[in-house]
Amino acid sequence: MKLFRFNGGRIGASTVDEAGRETSYDLTEALGVDPGAWPPVQMVQLIARFDERMKGIFAHPAVKPIDRDAVRLEVPVEWPNKLLAYPVNYVKHGEEMQSKNRADLNGFFLKANSSLSGPNDPIVLPDLPGREIHHECELGIVIGKGGRNISREAAWDHIFGYACLVDMVVRGNEERVMRKSYDTFCPFGPWITTADEVPDPAQLQAKLWINDELRQNANTRDLIVDIPGMIELASRVATLHPGDIIATGTPEGVGPVRKGDRLRIEIEHVGAMTLDIQ
Ligand code: MN
Repeated sequence: MKLFRFNGGRIGASTVDEAGRETSYDLTEALGVDPGAWPPVQMVQLIARFDERMKGIFAHPAVKPIDRDAVRLEVPVEWPNKLLAYPVNYVKHGEEMQSKNRADLNGFFLKANSSLSGPNDPIVLPDLPGREIHHECELGIVIGKGGRNISREAAWDHIFGYACLVDMVVRGNEERVMRKSYDTFCPFGPWITTADEVPDPAQLQAKLWINDELRQNANTRDLIVDIPGMIELASRVATLHPGDIIATGTPEGVGPVRKGDRLRIEIEHVGAMTLDIQ
């Protein structure tokens, strides 16, 4: 299933029938969701009680098919408890940055939750003359079942789904959390693809283009700290909650963006987004 937010906090889902045909539905009324409620935690609440709240939902009289291409998709998780990110998690990216940092040595950092933006939101560059602002193409993991001290073996059971994630960053010497926390510096989406629809998360090709130039093209099999390892390590420190997002680290090929560029990220079995840079 693909789960998405649209048109001001409404919640939708896309399912594929046995013939392979995908249909999308507006679940807002059937789920009893108030799209305008603040804080915008409706998707987090749904993820936390997903099986229970989705039971029989598609038979609910208020559920109507919609044309997903005709609505405005929004960031699927707007208000998680945490947005964790792993730094240098591919050897070749460490080499290109001439960095001794490695995710297995340095652990994770945090980005401001408010840096999250959606598949139809532009990336707005801050006015910082002379500074490079880079794209990082990453797989985003969405936590389903929370927990502390989650083992490698149990980690897969805690994953709700996956989305494309771009970790934008101003290169330089200020605190990393600040350089990565500008508004719109974490495009995430276009939807959450639930874990059951991703055949092998440890074998996903992820690509990122700036305009027509393919800049990043790598596979999650080359992660230094793999997906269960990231959950194990993070949950040793902090309780993971439903809806938490983990940015898995970028492969090589990062580079600068400029106003007027167009960024495209594509992850197989997960989704794709094309974003304007302003
Ligand atoms: Mn990153």
